[in-house]
Order: sequence, then C-alpha cells, then structure tokens
Amino acid sequence: MSSRRWRACPECDWVSALPVLKAGESAHCPRCERVLVHRHHAPAQKVLAYALSAFIMLLLTLPFPLMSFSMAGIFQEIVLVDAAQAMFNNDWPILGLLIALTIVILPGIFLLAVLYLYGAVARRKTWPGVRLLARMLSRLKPWLMTDVFLLGVLISIGKLMNMAHVNLGLSFIAFCLYVLFLVRTVSLVDADWLWFALCHEQQPPPQAHTGATAASQGIIGCPVCGLLNEQQNHHCLRCEAHLGFHSNFRLQATWAFLLASVVLYIPANLYPMMTTVTIGGTIYSTILGGVIQLVDTGSYVLAVIIFTASFVVPIAKILVLSYLCLLAARPRPMATKRRMRLYRITEIIGRWSMIDLFVVSITVALMQAGVIMSIYPGAAAAAFAAVVILTMIAAMVFDPRLLWASADSTYEPLNEQERQPHYGL
Ligand SMILES: [Zn+2]
Ligand SMILES: [Zn+2]
Repeated sequence: MSSRRWRACPECDWVSALPVLKAGESAHCPRCERVLVHRHHAPAQKVLAYALSAFIMLLLTLPFPLMSFSMAGIFQEIVLVDAAQAMFNNDWPILGLLIALTIVILPGIFLLAVLYLYGAVARRKTWPGVRLLARMLSRLKPWLMTDVFLLGVLISIGKLMNMAHVNLGLSFIAFCLYVLFLVRTVSLVDADWLWFALCHEQQPPPQAHTGATAASQGIIGCPVCGLLNEQQNHHCLRCEAHLGFHSNFRLQATWAFLLASVVLYIPANLYPMMTTVTIGGTIYSTILGGVIQLVDTGSYVLAVIIFTASFVVPIAKILVLSYLCLLAARPRPMATKRRMRLYRITEIIGRWSMIDLFVVSITVALMQAGVIMSIYPGAAAAAFAAVVILTMIAAMVFDPRLLWASADSTYEPLNEQERQPHYGL
C-alpha cells in the first residue's frame, strides 16, 4: 500500500492517489477536473491573520452607523444590525433572524471556530471540540452572505439617491474590510490540510484501487474530510461525519426541495416585496414592479442587477437542477463535463439572489415610520427568501455522482498518467 493519500472525487467518485504538492499547487480529478486539493502558502499563519482581522473589523462595524439618510429635514441613521431589526419591528422575525444569521452571527461563529482550530494546530495542541468545529466549518461556508449584503448596501444607495441624500457612515469602511477579510479567510480555509493537521490520516480500505469509482469498490469518500471509508460505515473513521445518504434518496430530496421552491416562487412574484406609504397613497411593488420602477427612474444598471438576481437566477437554477435530476434518472453517456459545469454554476450563483431581500431590509430600516414616507416589507420577501434557501439546499442535496453513473462503463482511462490527478498551478 502506498503512503500517498487517496481521494474519491466528491463530484464524479473517481478514486485517485494525491501527489505530494508544493505550496501554490493543486491536484485535479483526472476524470472531471474538479480541484481535489490546493496547497496554500503558510496556511495556518495566513488564516489566523485574516480571521483575526475580520473578527476585529466585525466588532468595529457593529457599534457605529453604517449609513444615513436625510430627506426634507428628516434624518435617519442605521447600524448594521438595524437591517435585521427592521424585519423584527415589521412582524417578520424569521426574516430578521435570517439576515442576522447570514451577516453577523454565522460569520462570527465561523471566524471564532477558525481562530480556535488554527490556534490549536499552530500550538500543536488537541483542544476539546476540534472535530465538531472542523466539521461545522465546511457546512457554514455557503451561508456566510456578507459579500451579497455589501452589494445590497451599494444598490440601496443607488436606489435612494434619486429621492434623498444618502451618506455612508463611520463603520462602512470597517464593514468593507470585514467582508474582504472574511471572504479571504473562507477561501484560505482548507479542509484537507486542516483535517491532516488535526488528526493525520488513516490508510484507505485494503481493496481500494485508483482508476475506478469508489462505489464500484464498496468504498465512499467522506464528504467532510475526504478520507476513504468502507461503504458499510455510517460515520467517517477520522472526522466522525455522517457518510451521506443514498444517491436515490438525495435525488428524491432534491426534487422535493425544487418543487417546494416552485410553489413558493408564485407568491414571491405575485405579492408585494415592498409597500411604500406616502401622503399621496400606498404603492405596492412586486419584484418585477420594482425592476420596472428602476427602469422608469433611469437606473438601468440596478434594474439589470435586480432582474438578474431575483428573476433570472432562481428560474435558471430551478430549471438547471430539474434538468440535472432528469439526466440522473435517465442517464446517458458523454457530455458529462458540460453537465458538471452547469452543476457548479448553480452552486455558486444561488446565494446572490439574496440581494433583493437585503436591499428591502436596508431600505425599510432607513425609511421606517417616516413622516413623509414609510416603507414596509411585503409577504413576497418571506416567500422569496424561502425560494433562495430551498434552491440552495436543493443544489447541496443533489448528488453530482449520479451524473457520472452511466459514464462509468463507457469511460476508459487512456493511460497510467491519466489515472493520477494532474497538477495545476
Ligand atoms: Zn471527478
Ligand atoms: Zn471524514
């Protein structure tokens, strides 16, 4: 048995032995070209520095005003958490909680967990709870939406600029740095390196060989730490994570989440996203109504961004995932790399649909209970948030290995070199 570490590709299930990597190098799956592992320069020091900076910036962001708004002698100033607070005040506590979780609470937990874990590695100590926290890290990543919120802040400024003076507050710079450092920390946190540093690595099951799928050998790659396990194990030998449900169960669950999101997509578009109450009357604006308003006021760029994020992306995501589910149920050989590209795009773009919800929460926070004008969130905001979350879960639950099942019999590695993961710089 070689001393090299083995991996089953999480997307196509192909088993390969990892080469020894230098800093800056990546190993790609020989079959689907997914990055299996990437080595960073000085990972522990960099992650600790960025995570600590991000956490300090988060603390500096919280107490000071993020932005202010003045119109006809009325002045309103908000701090970051007011965007969530506004939803609580308007009887949408679930939306308030969602916003607080995605921009402050979960990123805060993520950063503290990173500091604790990398601190343990740097000090070469086994501190309690490291496995639990390390398992949590990869699950938290998709739900950290500070970058989406930052775009939401910029769009809100663009929207409100036409009718009032909008100024950025003292904590805006700190918030931008918090977002920047957090995004950098997320990109540098490397589950493969971390698990090796925390718990080393056990040998793969004796029957494992490269150049075939893991399923065909009765083994399975751990979805959290990557270690190869026997298929009959319910939990990973190294990180104790659940080794995952059967692919067919995951396919059914994906359909269920997609169906739920299609149902909720109807009220998300029919009901108002935002209600504006002025002396002249009440205006209800739906998602598309909001886009038309932006076009009318000449804000074409904002109209395109909101239309893409709120209308095109959710529909495209539902259609693409349904198409992939159909392909998985009736597998056909070839064209699988194109399917994988589609799958990866749906995973990446889904979270950006949250922009409109963030714009609504910021606008509501800035303009609540005004004398001249008040803005309230509508029922569509909750339905739309549910659509975004359900489609995100659908993409996570979908098992991309199903797309490759049919390719198994037709795919023959060309030579020994192709059986090994190749380097990428
Ligand atoms: Zn692969
Ligand atoms: Zn594991």
